[in-house]
Amino acid sequence: MNNGHKPVGILAVQGDFAMHAKMLDRIRAPWKLVKHAADLDEVGGLIMPGGESTTMLKFFCSEGMGAAIKEFAGTGKPIFGTCAGAILLAKEVLNPPQEKLGLIDIAIERNAYGRQVDSSVQRGECPELLNHPMEMVFIRAPIIRRVGEGVRVLGRCGHLPVLVEQDNILAATFHPELTENETVHRYFLKKLGD
Ligand code: GLN
Repeated sequence: MNNGHKPVGILAVQGDFAMHAKMLDRIRAPWKLVKHAADLDEVGGLIMPGGESTTMLKFFCSEGMGAAIKEFAGTGKPIFGTCAGAILLAKEVLNPPQEKLGLIDIAIERNAYGRQVDSSVQRGECPELLNHPMEMVFIRAPIIRRVGEGVRVLGRCGHLPVLVEQDNILAATFHPELTENETVHRYFLKKLGD
């Protein structure tokens, strides 16, 4: 169906990868869990789920997964990061600074809504993708503090950018896999090419 008929990879090191799989089932897109760097050879794109970016980073170093993902992105294959996944993709991470893949030119601040705001459901706007407000779930979410010149803001919640794109990289600070709304996943699938 896409990119040489390869399935969508879902990084399954830690976090809510199973919910992405459920969403892809709903929209009938074939997927494959990515647990080792070699699994990337068999997928046409990659979803990096929410969870704990620090935990995922440890795995990246020990398994060579970080370098493999950078190489994967370098070939132009699309990557979609949600929440912790977006943090891992960013060029700059704040609160505190930590290692990152640097694949999208944004500065992102971890846990930026404060400790007391564990999670919230809000309404945001993705005008290019949807002509009505979108329900957005934020869980210990980061805030995008800087957006580089080559980055397009596709979604906002209040005045903050929450869905951004640079070439083959898509990043959301919210969790579209936790609502009924399929818009963002469908948009990502388009990037894999039909
Ligand atoms: N707070 C987490 C982190 O810093 C992200 C939370 C999430 O992915 N829901 O990695």
